[in-house]
Amino acid sequence: MPELPPSVKGFSTTFFTMFKHVNTEQYPEEKDKYPPKPRFHGRHQLNRHPDGLEKCVGCELCAWACPADAIFVEGADNEEGDRHSPGERYGIVYQINYLRCILCGLCIEACPTRALTMTNEYELADDSRESLIYEKEDLLAPLLPGMAPAPHSMVAGTTEKDYYEGKITGATAEQIAEVAAREADEAVAQDDAAEVKEGGA
Ligand code: SF4
Ligand code: SF4
Repeated sequence: MPELPPSVKGFSTTFFTMFKHVNTEQYPEEKDKYPPKPRFHGRHQLNRHPDGLEKCVGCELCAWACPADAIFVEGADNEEGDRHSPGERYGIVYQINYLRCILCGLCIEACPTRALTMTNEYELADDSRESLIYEKEDLLAPLLPGMAPAPHSMVAGTTEKDYYEGKITGATAEQIAEVAAREADEAVAQDDAAEVKEGGA
């Protein structure tokens, strides 16, 4: 059989490709049609225990494991009346720089308390450097029903080990009352500060 000229061969490839299934995914118009796979590593999340205390103990292992130097952690001691996690320490400052992060997941492997995990959220683009440095407030997991926002005491009569063994199921009435009292005190202090400001104006 005679050889077809190269140009005919080339155009035939183009012609037959016109009838093939198109794999282009339209983003962002059709993004809901193509959700990320469940194991996709996206934005990080700092998790909480079921009573609302934070799982992060400020150990910095995630920061040391990061090949892109994208994490900054500063730990602090939990104090009586200002407890954020069940252990001795908690992360007082926690930042992830998404200009540097390559979403490799090494940090979550290094975390000894499963405080740090990654969500499926992938829309991390922005137009300023500042907005891509996520602070602890941006990364903390939302409060679920049954949780009380830290700081507050541990469940009475429990140890740190009980938390890691999954024996805590939710905030107790004492913890909820403690948080309510703290929030009421903060509201009064804010009102007083506003009055002082108005008086000085
Ligand atoms: S996912 Fe990788 S690059 Fe991003 S913060 Fe974690 S270790 Fe660093
Ligand atoms: S997220 Fe995990 S590894 Fe990082 S400081 Fe907190 S407890 Fe340590």
